Amino acid sequence: METIFEKIIRREVPAHIVYENDVVIAFLDIEPTNIGHTLVVPKKKSENMLTIDSREWVEVMEVVRFLAPRIMRAVQAQGVNIMANCGEAAGQVVPHTHVHIVPRFTGDGFKHWPGKQHPEEEMRTIAETIRGEVLQEGV
Ligand code: AMP
Repeated sequence: METIFEKIIRREVPAHIVYENDVVIAFLDIEPTNIGHTLVVPKKKSENMLTIDSREWVEVMEVVRFLAPRIMRAVQAQGVNIMANCGEAAGQVVPHTHVHIVPRFTGDGFKHWPGKQHPEEEMRTIAETIRGEVLQEGV
């Protein structure tokens, strides 16, 4: 299924493009969390960072690392959140791999997800289950 990002890549839909190379395009998010909020998008279609070709993912992340400090300087941010939502349950709305670079300003008021402590037995069991999955699947 085609997404809005392919249309931006083909210049059929306008966007504020801030960087582009053969593999990746980066443009401002249309509804920025903070000014300068940028999406880094591989030009070749893949669903998310879990399924993209791993070498291509490395190229995406090289661009993220190149752009993040430059975006911070441009908007005079003190920090940055770098996020990849994977799957609808995790808030992924556009099913084309992308990375959010969200500039952060001291005192901008955004909170991270709250954590809560779980019983030791549950933690032990889930760690054991995950180790089992790791052994089965390999990397
Ligand atoms: P996600 O929830 O991780 O899938 O993020 C998708 C992001 O794409 C959202 O933050 C949207 O605001 C952004 N978005 C959707 N349409 C456009 C568009 N035409 N131009 C720029 N950003 C867009």
